Amino acid sequence: MQFISTRGKYTAENAANAITKGLSEDGGLFVPQTFPNLKDALCGMLSMDYAERAATVIGSFLTEYDKAELLAACKKAYARFEEGDAAPVVKIGDGLFVLELFHGPTLAFKDIALTLLPYLMRKGADLSGVKENILILVATSGDTGKAALEGFKNQKGIKICVFYPSEGVSDMQKMQMCTQEGDNVNVVGVNGNFDDCQTAVKKIFTSKEIAAELAAENVVLSSANSINFGRLVPQIAYYFSAYLDLVNSGEIKLGDKIDFTVPTGNFGNILAGYYAKKMGLPIEKLVCASNSNNVLTEFFESGTYDANREFFKTMSPSMDILISSNLERLVFELSGRDGELTAKRMEDLKKSGKYSITKAEQAAVSAEFFADYCDEEECSEVICDVFENSGYLADPHTAVALKAAETYSVRSGSKNKMVVLSTASPYKFSQNVLKSISGKTVKDPFKAAQALETLSACPIPLQISQLKSKERRFTEVIDKTETVKAVCDFAAK
Ligand SMILES: *Cc1c(COP(=O)(O)O)cnc(C)c1O
Repeated sequence: MQFISTRGKYTAENAANAITKGLSEDGGLFVPQTFPNLKDALCGMLSMDYAERAATVIGSFLTEYDKAELLAACKKAYARFEEGDAAPVVKIGDGLFVLELFHGPTLAFKDIALTLLPYLMRKGADLSGVKENILILVATSGDTGKAALEGFKNQKGIKICVFYPSEGVSDMQKMQMCTQEGDNVNVVGVNGNFDDCQTAVKKIFTSKEIAAELAAENVVLSSANSINFGRLVPQIAYYFSAYLDLVNSGEIKLGDKIDFTVPTGNFGNILAGYYAKKMGLPIEKLVCASNSNNVLTEFFESGTYDANREFFKTMSPSMDILISSNLERLVFELSGRDGELTAKRMEDLKKSGKYSITKAEQAAVSAEFFADYCDEEECSEVICDVFENSGYLADPHTAVALKAAETYSVRSGSKNKMVVLSTASPYKFSQNVLKSISGKTVKDPFKAAQALETLSACPIPLQISQLKSKERRFTEVIDKTETVKAVCDFAAK
């Protein structure tokens, strides 16, 4: 299957190509030429396990990858998740379900894609005849960095460099990254926020000079962020899997429509749900949940995306984002796949920090999406309420989504089953979760985790308890103007 750029000027001949490159040469994002339809395949997927479902969904786009090999790679990736189910559905209320995506090696939903991406990329590079070493650049708001580092550590012919906002991630997230093992990894703190990291990385991707300099070292760049289609496609699979699980448990009949609520930052996770819908999965609404950085809520309500606003540091840091990269893929679809118009809008965003869609596009998008946000106080309240009412320990990102799901339910009166995506383990944000349910302020993240375990009887994951004794290998913090140098130095090492 061919992949086209959202900015209209470039076509990748297949998925292998699009995944190896990461970002298109015209600065746009790769999207599939068409969406395969799996509606008639749903019935046959009911009896499959998670890895088989994933291989079915992923294989429908990655047509040049060997099917048996892809299935084996999925089995291997998802065997790394607790209890062999990468995406269990848990019922927490009447018609309300949580899709738990955080049982992987680094305790966030990013693991679902990043345990598989190394295979997709290595194979993609081989299929595309790429002979150079690959340097993967990652900008992270906290969870992508660690998941990508774990996925790519000690992979032959690949190096990985992660930039994170030095003061913009949780203590546990920072510790997870700074203690990373592996001899092909680099982790760098940046004085700035996630948008600064993402902008710096995107700039490096599209610079001809840097590409030439790296070529001299026999290095090409790629991305493990959700701008890479290889990150998105494994995420489509869990929407299918959750739906099929609800059919299997008798909660719905095959063909019934359901809704999903997704805690959103860079718009990658929820976009995967939109793609699932385009592929024939019976989804009615996708609820886009934001924290105080509610640029997306405003976009869906007003039709104008305006990033000129105050940036807030919140207890759901993986959603502290004002420039939501994957929205470009949605806007491209809304425009009727008009690359020129999408390029112009993204140019406006770069120049003035904003762009608008038309009234007709806005009406179309409102039919499929609902958007809401909550502030810090409400987020804390939700964590506390859900814990008291159903004994469920939600991380702050999941809590933001639970709140938006509730608002949607009240406003719409919808009788559909609602699946809320749970994106991280509460233990990654132990101090804030503890404070929310007990009112106690505990500075030390491990002490907070201990207290949380005692209160909740939800065991501390090994990945957290082991962190404490690990050596801190990466402590460098640089200015955002120094990212190019950091990349070139690491490439030459
Ligand atoms: C990355 C992340 C999100 C946001 O996902 P996007 O794909 O960026 O919208 C939400 N919650 C957690 C815990 C995350 O790590």
